[in-house]
Order: sequence, then structure tokens, then C-alpha cells
Amino acid sequence: MPHRIVILGGGTAGWMAANLFVRRWPSDKVAVTLIESPDIGIIGVGEGSTPTLKRFFELIDVPERDWMPRCDATYKVNIRFAGWSPQSGIDSYSHPFVSQVDTHVQSAFMVNCRTRRLGLDVRTQPDDFFLNGVLARQGKGPRAPEHFPFVVDYGYHFNSGLLGQFLAELAVERGATHVQTRIADVERADAGDVTALVSEDGQRYEGDFFVDCTGFASVLMQKTLGVGFRSFKENLFNDSAVVMPTPVPETPKPETVSYAMSSGWRWRIPLTSRFGNGYVYSSDFISDDDAETEFRAALGTLDSEEPTRRLRMRVGQLEKHWHRNCLGLGLSQGFIEPLEATALLLVQVTVELFMASYEEGNFSDRHAGEFNRKVDDRFERVRDYVVAHYKLNTRDDSEYWKANRANMVLSDSLRHILDAWYRRKDLSTEIQRQKLESHFGTLSWHCLLAGYGAFPPIAPNQPGQGDHYEEKGVERFLARCALNFASHGDNLAMLGGPDTTDPS
Ligand SMILES: Cc1cc2nc3c(=O)[nH]c(=O)nc-3n(C[C@H](O)[C@H](O)[C@H](O)COP(=O)(O)OP(=O)(O)OC[C@H]3O[C@@H](n4cnc5c(N)ncnc54)[C@H](O)[C@@H]3O)c2cc1C
Repeated sequence: MPHRIVILGGGTAGWMAANLFVRRWPSDKVAVTLIESPDIGIIGVGEGSTPTLKRFFELIDVPERDWMPRCDATYKVNIRFAGWSPQSGIDSYSHPFVSQVDTHVQSAFMVNCRTRRLGLDVRTQPDDFFLNGVLARQGKGPRAPEHFPFVVDYGYHFNSGLLGQFLAELAVERGATHVQTRIADVERADAGDVTALVSEDGQRYEGDFFVDCTGFASVLMQKTLGVGFRSFKENLFNDSAVVMPTPVPETPKPETVSYAMSSGWRWRIPLTSRFGNGYVYSSDFISDDDAETEFRAALGTLDSEEPTRRLRMRVGQLEKHWHRNCLGLGLSQGFIEPLEATALLLVQVTVELFMASYEEGNFSDRHAGEFNRKVDDRFERVRDYVVAHYKLNTRDDSEYWKANRANMVLSDSLRHILDAWYRRKDLSTEIQRQKLESHFGTLSWHCLLAGYGAFPPIAPNQPGQGDHYEEKGVERFLARCALNFASHGDNLAMLGGPDTTDPS
């Protein structure tokens, strides 16, 4: 008998897990069943990724030309934050995905950040120092031609419904069983483990291990097993969103833009078929109706008949991600608001860690404790990075932004990072001391802090040059690298034709 794993929920999280499982474990060893209810449906947002999604497709061995056109996908080289720090004179800054090629110029960026922290007037905008920042500005795509000697990292934008359908077909083709029904009851053994899921029409689905991918409902982890939930509401105020699509130009820039709003922020995500837009806000600071009006005004759709969709978000994480014979995954395990588009990254990290721990424990829960500590830490450190965006904002136009800046509910880890920065210590040493490189690493923290202009005033006396942007010829180097890249439109068009570029 193969070991039976039952996944409950067919959103992106459920289908990502199903694909990773069937890819790793042959069906005579592990039988994977995914149950989902079309009546309940999926959340249908979540359309931006980090480069981890690129690794996901590499792991399951699916080339871009197979999935991207089917999912209306575009490339993503960075997130641009617009209007978050007006007092520092910065209209917008980008957090580019860092690539291998950037190792040649990253030290110039870090040195300049250090010099600027001493009050000297040197260039520190992250967009200027990273290849992806330059590509975004030029509207170029990130697919490197074969002769380009460096790996370029990037993420994607995609339609989440279409991605779910694609992944469902693939998982079934590769051996997963797909059941469409609503689960109404859960059976448990005397010791407490889940033994079977029971559908509305009385069918029983037995399993040895269960993965809860039921979204915010968290049917198995919270409702059945009673696992506690640790809210991040005190750190992150946003709990709501309103979403609406708008038309997209033929060749959009390969970037997500995050615009600051009165009580939150608004994303603009380019797909090939539309812009996905959403206003993420705190219901403590604005009503749903006022948020929608502000959102429509920003999109220029005040007179449009097109309906919006409103969502509530539960921000925080489970006290245990793996409990008994169940794993929480996706929104059911927790959620950090979507500012850095990290939800699918956390799905993938969780599944990869789980598979390794489960195998190492010979398909037992022997390593569940260590696994839980690692995933818990991952969530908290991602949360800290998102919190830092709010803490460093310099907006004074609403109580929301002032309250975020004044919020002192910060983890020790975040306090130490900010302390090191403002005391002009070496940030890399602090990041290494905290072993944070696998979360948001040194460069990401430099991008964030420099992007917000978190520097002392420029000193009146400037002793000489010392600008490594100039001295190291960063502009010329990156401009020459960028010459190798085609426009974003050409990159997308290539997906329909023969593949002549190196996707690695
Ligand atoms: C406003 C917002 C913006 C976001 N933006 C991003 C982003 O840019 N990037 C990113 O990575 N993530 C983002 N996310 C998160 C992302 O949407 C989710 O992580 C992703 O869609 C995965 O969702 P899921 O599969 O966990 O849950 P869902 O999509 O909600 O799927 C739940 C599944 O469980 C099934 N189900 C539930 N109960 C039962 C039952 N009783 N019986 C049978 N089936 C059941 C449903 O039918 C469904 O198939 C965002 C989230 C929100 C709220």
C-alpha cells in the first residue's frame, strides 16, 4: 500500500503541493489525492511572485513557454514603491530582484549607503545599482540570451485562477487523484489524528497524512484540530482589500507598482490580459465604502459600472504549522499582507521543508518540532521586513501613516537591524549574526532602508567625492549589460515561438 496523502483545497497552495509531491514521490510509494469544492471556490487573488516561483517551475520541470501564455503571465523584475516616503524627497524607489551579475556592483551600493549614513552626498537609490532596476526603467524583459554569462533572477505576474487550472491538469497527468466535492465532516482516531474526510454526500476519503489548503477557513488545522492562531494585527494594521481589473497596454513594464494610499496601499500588477489592481487597507482607519471610492478615483473608474470585489484578510500564523498528521499550507497556515508578494514563497518553503523533514523521519512526525520552529521563524522574519516598510514611511497626510510610524510593536530582530543601521554599524554583520540571509538578506535590507531615504541630513561640508557609483562606473557597466536584453514585449512574444534563450 502506498502512503496516502490527502490535500484538502485546490487553490494555488493545494496544487503547488500536489505537483511537488508527485514530482518527488512515485505513485507506488505515495498516493496523492486533492479534494476541492468548486462551490466554495478559490480566493482568486495573489498574482505576483518572487523568484522562488521560478525555482518551483524548475523543480517540477515545466518550461515557461508551457505555462506562461496559458496563465496570462508576464515577467517581474522588481516592485516599485511609489509615494511611501515623500519627506525624504523620494517619489518612488524599486526593490529589484538581485541577480548574479549584481555581485559586481553590490559592494558599490553598500559602500555608498555607508558613506551616505555619515552624511555625505552620494547616490543610494537601489534602482541605479542593480541590473533588474535598469531593465525595469528601460521596459526590458529579464530573459538573458545564451551568450550572457550570468544567471538573472526574476519573478512573475499571472492570473491565479488560470495558474490553478494549469497546475491541476499537470498534477493529475502526473498521477494525482482529483476529487470535486465539499467536505462536511472530519473523522479522527481516539488519539486525535485525522483518519478520513467525509463529503456532503457521505463519501469517505481516508488518508495517512492530510494537508490543509482550505484558505482562511483552515478547516483541518484550526476548526478540527484546534491549533491556535497568532495574529500580527498589532504589527500590521491592514485587514481588508478591494480589487478590480483595468485595461493594460500591449507591453507593460515588467514590474509591480505599490502606490501609497490614505489608509494603505494599492497594487498594480500587469498581466497580458489586464492590470490586476487592489487596495489593501485597514478597516480601523477607513470604511469599506470610502476605500472603494478612493480606489476607483485612483484608477479613474469612478463612473465605471465594473464591479469591485471586497475581501477580508486574516494576518498572522498558526501556532503550529504541522500538528499530528496534518500540515497547514497557504492561507490556512497564515498570511502576511501582500506588500512583498511572499505568500507563494512561504508555500514553497513550507512544502520543501516538509518533504525533507517527512522523508528524514521515515514518513513520521519525528521532525515536526524542528520544522515548526523553522517555518515559524520564516513567517516572523518576512513579517518584520514588511513591518519595516510601514515603520520607515514619511507620510503625514493621514492618521494611518502616522500611527504606522509611531508603532513600537517591533520584534527584537527588527529593532536590532534598525539600531545597527542608525548607529552606522555594519548591517551585513548584524544580518549574519541573526542568520537572516535566507529570509530577506543584506542587500534587500539596504534597498529598503536606502529606498526610504533613512539617512541623516546631508552634511554642510562635503569632503571630496567618494561616490562609488561614479568611481566604479556602475552606470556604464549596467547599461552595457542591459544591451543584451530584449524588450519585455519581445520576451513575451518569444514564449509563443521557438525557445532561443536560456531560462536558467
Ligand atoms: C488581497 C490579497 C492579495 C494577495 N496578493 C498576493 C500576491 O501578490 N502574491 C502572493 O504570493 N500571494 C498573494 N496573496 C495570497 C494568495 O492569494 C494565496 O496565498 C494563494 O492564492 C493561495 O491560496 P490558498 O490556496 O491557500 O487558498 P484558496 O485560494 O482560498 O483556496 C482554498 C481551497 O479550499 C477549498 N475548500 C475550502 N473549504 C473546503 C471544504 N469544506 N471542502 C472542500 N474544499 C474546501 C476551496 O474550494 C479552495 O479550493 C494575496 C492574498 C490576498 C488576500
